[in-house]
Amino acid sequence: MEDVGKNLDQLMNKKNYRMRYEEMKQEILQNEEVNQFLVEHQSAITQQDIEKSFAKLYEFVQEKRKFIQNDPAMIAPGYEPTLTLNYHFIDVTYVPTKALLEKEHRQEVASRIQTISMPKDIQNASLKEYERTSGRGDAWISAFEFVDAYTAAPKDFHKGIYFVGSFGVGKTYLLGAIARDLAEAGYMTTLLHFPTFAVEMKQAIGKETVGPELTRVKQAPILMIDDIGADSLSSWIRDEVLGVILQYRMQEHLPTFFSSNFSMDELEEHLSVTQRGEIEPLKAKRIMERIRYLSQEVSMSGRNRRERP
Ligand code: ADP
Ligand code: MG
Repeated sequence: MEDVGKNLDQLMNKKNYRMRYEEMKQEILQNEEVNQFLVEHQSAITQQDIEKSFAKLYEFVQEKRKFIQNDPAMIAPGYEPTLTLNYHFIDVTYVPTKALLEKEHRQEVASRIQTISMPKDIQNASLKEYERTSGRGDAWISAFEFVDAYTAAPKDFHKGIYFVGSFGVGKTYLLGAIARDLAEAGYMTTLLHFPTFAVEMKQAIGKETVGPELTRVKQAPILMIDDIGADSLSSWIRDEVLGVILQYRMQEHLPTFFSSNFSMDELEEHLSVTQRGEIEPLKAKRIMERIRYLSQEVSMSGRNRRERP
């Protein structure tokens, strides 16, 4: 009796399988794209080829449905399944969609902008969309000129820009926009919020992270030092951190940008007094010589954009 039961089961399974096969076949043959493909390649494929490619055709129908429904279960999210003919065998090729290619491009561009303690929104800044109010026109033009000159001859030395202007006028945002345009053109920029960086360096004194971090910053292909002069500096930060970074960049002819609420002359005065109150005008002068060598001063004026107009 047992054997009969077993055979019956097998028979039923076989029957189920057949039915399932017929269903699948119907589903495939009812698919418009499959039909179109078969018509297009009529002369190149035989009925036998179609039978052989059955599994692939089924895969196509399933995956295309998931693709259209944006079903997360699809084999290759972001890729559109398409039918291709590979000699006598029909195959499914997964073609990256425009959306995927754009996403990959955006990620690649973003990866060229290294930020250290910078606000997130500068990642979206762009020169093309930068609003050119009257007080910021010069800044915008010099930014544009830099990007043009640098991308035309990246190996030559190009003076960066020292943006000076009051709080909220858009200095940091403009640095971000320049970095974005440079990234679009394939160049790496490091944007550094100097006051925060200085605090972090001080906290790391004596640890082995100081050296590598300083090296990474000073060697950045393009460096932007944001908000210099916002805090008073210790002589160590001024001479052994800022001074070392600037010295290296001057020697290596590496483009360097700054933004500050102080003009260069005001910054010189600011740097001549240390956190402890020591007056060291010569040390400040040395730093300023490097800053002046590396950048040209461009002022920005206008309303504080952090307040509602
Ligand atoms: P600053 O660095 O001069 O203090 P920010 O660059 O931080 O000023 O700009 C202040 C605010 O205005 C930020 O929120 C910034 O995103 C915004 N902002 C500045 N310039 C623009 C611009 N051209 N287009 C859009 N938003 C801007
Ligand atoms: Mg700023």
